[in-house]
This record gives sequence, structure tokens and C-alpha cells, in this order.
Amino acid sequence: MIQSLLRNNIKKLEAYSSARDEYGGKANLYLDANENPFSNGVNRYPDPRQKNLKQLIGKIKQIETKNIVVGNGSDETIDLIIRAFCNPGKDNIIINTPTYGMYKVCADINDIECREVLLDSSFQPDIKNIFSQIDERTKIIFLCSPNNPTGNCINRSTITELLSNFKGIVVVDEAYIDFSEENTNTGLLEKYSNLVILQTLSKAWGLAGIRVGFCFAGEEITKVLNKIKYPYNVNSLSLNFAESTLKNIEEISSFKKLILKERDRLSLILSDFSFSRKVYSSDANFILWKIDNADKLYNFLKKNGIIVRKRCIAPLLRNCLRISIGTPDENNTLTEKLREYEASNIIYR
Ligand SMILES: *Cc1c(COP(=O)(O)O)cnc(C)c1O
Repeated sequence: MIQSLLRNNIKKLEAYSSARDEYGGKANLYLDANENPFSNGVNRYPDPRQKNLKQLIGKIKQIETKNIVVGNGSDETIDLIIRAFCNPGKDNIIINTPTYGMYKVCADINDIECREVLLDSSFQPDIKNIFSQIDERTKIIFLCSPNNPTGNCINRSTITELLSNFKGIVVVDEAYIDFSEENTNTGLLEKYSNLVILQTLSKAWGLAGIRVGFCFAGEEITKVLNKIKYPYNVNSLSLNFAESTLKNIEEISSFKKLILKERDRLSLILSDFSFSRKVYSSDANFILWKIDNADKLYNFLKKNGIIVRKRCIAPLLRNCLRISIGTPDENNTLTEKLREYEASNIIYR
């Protein structure tokens, strides 16, 4: 079934076979890759199959290494999936807006039509509308759970309904799932061969700068993505850094707990402001906040050196700001500025 969804050229593709690919064992001398032999820590090419990293993340997430693709950030895996399945100028994908911007950007770059279906008023995918947008050229549906920028998880029953009734690929982007672990959909991988789950080290793991993301899927899909990715897509410095962080889970989980505590503290503070209309509940490390006049507050904060995300484009997000959870000190600074804003607003009203 997966094979018939692939682009023909990808189905027929012979992958580039790198020196390190052809010989996977341990040798005494490596004279096969034209590297500089004098050691400086990075004179050798990195492992193109990222074996050690896959073992570490596989153990944490309970996923076999053959079901993992490592990307240069999960952004790379979004592009890989689109390129594997979608014929430029012919096929289309479906996204559920408002959502993460890269699905559409990757589709646009690859000349793939991107059909946007609005989330319903509780920020859940509108299944009826999605099915009315699907045609024989629809290859992928992108879901994001917890969704950026709304912060909520998608109902599991919605995901399984799409997986069962849509003949193409369903991608569930779980970039924020480490803040809401019980909601992960990795347990569905065994049952659904058309499911792809994306995760990343950029958010809860605190490693946005090293660019490491993951794609979890059945072997039919991981084999293809591993074939079309650049052989050395993740560099040695990033691999080493990622591996040592994954060996140090305790420290990361204490940061995570603090971020969640701060999220709940800040949510309460925000909802008390006179100009606050709604603080949406969040399963992630950011808060979506509806207020009286988002432009005005955004500009006030900007003038005071505080940058938040203005997400007013989508109709559902009128007058909303998205605020990332900072350190306790940063959240206190934000709170002080908001109190100033509130006071000045009362004076000028
Ligand atoms: C931040 C983010 C990503 C990007 O992750 P990288 O691994 O840093 O490329 C992917 N999806 C969503 C929804 C995000 O918010």
C-alpha cells in the first residue's frame, strides 16, 4: 500500500552509497573515504545511519531503531516526506489551520498544492471538511498534536478515524509531546502503516541549536526516507551532543517540570488582567492568549524589548498572542511589564 503512494522516481531510486555505508563493521584502518587521517575529533565523517542516537531515543520512546529516521531538525523530515510521496505540480496535501507554518512552506517549495481546512472552534480537526477536500491526488494529511499555535492535543479518535479512512499518509507532528507525554500516538504505529510521527530535540530537550529531529514510522516508510536523505545529514558535533543529553534524562525532566509549573503559574496571572479575554489551556510550553487589542499590546511589549508571537492572521486567532514560557525571572519581567501596560491603559481610557 505504501509503495503505491510513492513517486515513481523515488520508488526506482538507487540511493547514494557512501563509504561508511558499504562497510558497516569495525576496522583498524579507514582508508576508504578520503578523509584527513590526522585526528582533531571531527576529521571523520559521521555515522550516516545514526545508530547510537537511534538506540538511545528508541529506548526512551519504546521504538525499534528500524522504525526511526533522524533528521536535521524535524523540519528536514517534513520536507523528506513531501518529496517522497508528492509529485510536483500534481499532488496535494491537507493541513489543518491555524498550525505550524513549515508544512505549507515545504509544499510550496516542492510545487505541491496545500489545501487548508480550518480547525473547529475547539481547535480540533474538522473531519467532514477534511474528507470533502480529499481527492485522488491527496497524498498526505498533516496533523500537529499538541498543535502550534493553539497548544491543544488532537483527540486520538480523530487521528484513528483519519488513519483508517484515508488511503494516504497521516503525519502527526509531536514536536511538543514531551510536555504531554501521555498523549503520544506512538502506540498506533504498530497498527497503522500509513502513520508517520515527528518528534524533535528542539523543544523540551533544549537542543534547538543542534538541529536534531526524528521521524517514527513503519519500515516501508523509514527505508524510503533513509534512502533519500543526504547521507551525512546530521553532523558529528550534533550527534555527540544529542547522545550525551539523552543519557542525562533526569536533568532534562526537572527543567521540563519547572517549565510546566511556570506555564500554569503564568496562565493564572494572565487571566487576571482586565484586558484578558481568554487564556487557552495548553499541553505545550507556550500559551495562546486572547486579549482586547493584540496589536497594541504586541507593540508595547516590543518597545520594552519583549518579543512574543503575534498570531492574528487566522480568523480563529483574532487578537491572540502566543507566549513561550521563559525562566521564572523572565516570566516575572513579563508580568511586571503587563501590569505597567494595564495601568497605562486605565489612565488613557
Ligand atoms: C518547532 C517545531 C518544529 C521544528 O522542529 P525542529 O526539529 O527544530 O526542526 C516542528 N513542528 C512544530 C509544530 C514545531 O513547533
